[in-house]
Amino acid sequence: MNFDDLAPRTRAVAAGRPDEPGQPLNTPLVPASTFLAGAGFKYAREDGTPTWLALEETVGAIEGGHAIAFASGIATAAAVLDLLDVGAEVAVPVYSYAGTRGLLDHAAAKGRLKVRRVEPSDQAGWLAAAREADVVWVESPTNPTLDLIDIAGLTGHRARVVVDNTFATPLGQQPLALGADIVVHSATKLIGGHSDLLLGLTIAADEGVAQELRDARTRGGATPGALEAWLALRGLRTLPVRLAEQSRTAALLAPRLGEHPAVTKVRYPGQGTMIAFDLADAGAADKLCASLRLIRHATSLGGVESIVERRAMWPGDAHVPAGLVRFSVGLEDPEDLWRDLSQALT
Ligand SMILES: *Cc1c(COP(=O)(O)O)cnc(C)c1O
Repeated sequence: MNFDDLAPRTRAVAAGRPDEPGQPLNTPLVPASTFLAGAGFKYAREDGTPTWLALEETVGAIEGGHAIAFASGIATAAAVLDLLDVGAEVAVPVYSYAGTRGLLDHAAAKGRLKVRRVEPSDQAGWLAAAREADVVWVESPTNPTLDLIDIAGLTGHRARVVVDNTFATPLGQQPLALGADIVVHSATKLIGGHSDLLLGLTIAADEGVAQELRDARTRGGATPGALEAWLALRGLRTLPVRLAEQSRTAALLAPRLGEHPAVTKVRYPGQGTMIAFDLADAGAADKLCASLRLIRHATSLGGVESIVERRAMWPGDAHVPAGLVRFSVGLEDPEDLWRDLSQALT
C-alpha cells in the first residue's frame, strides 16, 4: 500500500499490516529465534522477525524512512555511534538526555570520539557544529529542560544530523522531512505508552545507512524482544489519541502552574505531553513529589499515567536546576490532576 497521501495518524493505524486474504488483521506476536531454511527469514538476530518488521514498517511509514528496532533507546543510540570512525566529533546539547551524554562521555574518555557541547539556544554554535563536526546530535525538545533546537537550519552541511525524537513522537515532528539523516526514539516512552516495555527505534532516510544500522544490530546483538515489539506496535496504533488528549491536558495545566506562586519557572514548548517546572530548591521539589497522591513519583515518561520526578536527583543530570520537576502528563481527567498538584504545591 502507498502511504504517501495519508496523514501520519492514518499511517500509525494502517501501516505494517498483513494484506493477503486469510491472514490475521494484525501481525501476530512471533516468538522465534530461527526459521525453516529455504526462503525468507533465517535467524532472528540477523533477519528480524515478522513482529519486528510490522513495527518497523509502521514507524518507517510515519517518519518517512527505513526503521530498525532495537532493545532500548540507548541501544539505538549506541548503534548510531557505532557507525562513526575513531576520532569523529559529535556535537550534543549541554542539556539533554543524561543516558546519551553518558554514552558519549564514555566514548570520549576511551579516546574513541570527540564531544562538543552546545547550549540548546546557541544557534551560531549549532551552525558551526553542523559545518565542522561529523555528527550533530539534536534532541528537540530536550529532556528534561524542554528546549527547542532548529533542526532544518542544521541540515545540508558537513555533519550528519541525528535527531532524538522521543519527546515529540513520530506524529509531533518528522525530522527526516526537515532534512535530518537519522531519527532515534526511545519507544519505551510515548510510542509504547504504557510504561511496560523497553524498546528503541531508529529511522534512516537512506537505505544504505539503514543497512549499516541493521548490521550494527546484528553485530552488537541489541535486539528487541518479541513481546516488546508487539506491545510497542500495539501502543503506536493508539498514539494519535493518547498524544492529542495528553497534550490537551498539558496545555491546560502549563499556564496554571505558571500562575502558581510556588512555581518560579514553567518550561513548556507550547505542545506535547511534557512540562517541566522549577520550584525554589531541591527540598521544595522533593516535598512536592512526596505529597502528590494521584500523580505517581517515578522516573521515565510518556505513559498513560501521570508521573513526576525531580531530575537533578540523578548524577548525570547535575547541570539541571536542583528544583526542576519533570512532569509527564497522562490520560487522567485534567481537573483531578490539577487538584492533586494544587494540594501538593500548598
Ligand atoms: C528515555 C530516553 C532515552 C533512552 O531510552 P531507553 O529506552 O531508556 O534506553 C533516550 N532519549 C530520550 C530523550 C529519553 O527520554
